[in-house]
Amino acid sequence: MENIPFNRPFYTGNEKLNIQTALDNAHLSGDGVFTKACSSLLEQVLGVNKVLITTSCTHALEMSAMLLDIQPGDEVIFPSFTFVSTVNAFILRGAKPIFVDIRPDTLNMDETKIESLVTDKTKALVPVHYAGVGCEMDAIQSIADKHQLKIVEDNAHGLFAKYKGKYLGTFGSMATQSFHETKNFTSGEGGALLINDPEMIERAEIIREKGTNRSRFFRGQVDKYTWVDMGSSYLPSELLAAFLLAQLEGCEEIQNRRKNIWEYYDLHLNAWTEENSIRRPQVPAYVEQPYHMYYLLLPDLHSRTAFIKHMKDHGIMSVFHYLPLHLSPMGINFGGKEGDCPITEMMSDRLVRLPFYSGMTPEDLQRVVKAAMAFKV
Ligand SMILES: *Cc1c(COP(=O)(O)O)cnc(C)c1O
Repeated sequence: MENIPFNRPFYTGNEKLNIQTALDNAHLSGDGVFTKACSSLLEQVLGVNKVLITTSCTHALEMSAMLLDIQPGDEVIFPSFTFVSTVNAFILRGAKPIFVDIRPDTLNMDETKIESLVTDKTKALVPVHYAGVGCEMDAIQSIADKHQLKIVEDNAHGLFAKYKGKYLGTFGSMATQSFHETKNFTSGEGGALLINDPEMIERAEIIREKGTNRSRFFRGQVDKYTWVDMGSSYLPSELLAAFLLAQLEGCEEIQNRRKNIWEYYDLHLNAWTEENSIRRPQVPAYVEQPYHMYYLLLPDLHSRTAFIKHMKDHGIMSVFHYLPLHLSPMGINFGGKEGDCPITEMMSDRLVRLPFYSGMTPEDLQRVVKAAMAFKV
């Protein structure tokens, strides 16, 4: 029997057709019809002022740090339980990372622990919506307002998810999306910057276009384009945007499939998790989740390691996620030490992600569940 991988790309069926059209259009560089169609689709569905499609979520995060004018010595508050790019983007501008612990239920940044970390150097808060389950944005926004901090949402997991009826990515001055192969919607590599603050739009276009006002030139707003600011090259090729459009237009099918997978796991693993003191994901009633991942929290590191091996022996790839950033070699350089974020440290030891991809078949799901249930803590 074939192994069940942790992830496998899913095609809606229109990817090849769109790429062929891009080839026929003979426009392969960025910002052609497909890139524009992707941005408009996201702007319309989410209701954000501007969406810029980028080469990755990492790059969208880098753009957000430039747009906030992060300077050496500025402090930015992140969860330690996140991907390196969330923090790297700001480190590149000289920021000092301040790590906040996570909530034990959603594994999102613990909003009650943010305020004691705010100093007169703090410039921004970067909530990460883990598994696309919204952070406590009401509380996070009121802290940001009180201390005049900007919010950048790392929404890599949470496209089309909602917190209290409002789309994730629409709370901060900006938000970032990922279209990496492991995310719900993909172009292999890719991302987007969502801009809610209208004052940031023009500069964002410039930063994305190598520090030039090329976007205004193409719209006929200036008669030549020139170097006006710092910047880099954050435009994906039309070939990638062509692929991405097929994925975004297939949103309903992709999300339905993922909802079924998530609910299958949650229902069929219920009794077994109870019997073995394993915790399933907790999703507050006031959020709509995007079914990005299904994770389990084993009792401890030892049982988690044994579980991953057990699944592997059954030909099923399950993976752990996020080593605490404050305890990584880079985090230690910034002063991180054990005990700084105790919930993060504990959950990181316990968490395991089950195979989760839109093309999973009922047989795949049955196999994963059967193998998992043969494991006893
Ligand atoms: C995947 C991911 C990123 C990085 O996305 P890329 O598109 O690969 O750059 C950033 N933050 C989080 C939380 C992610 O899961």
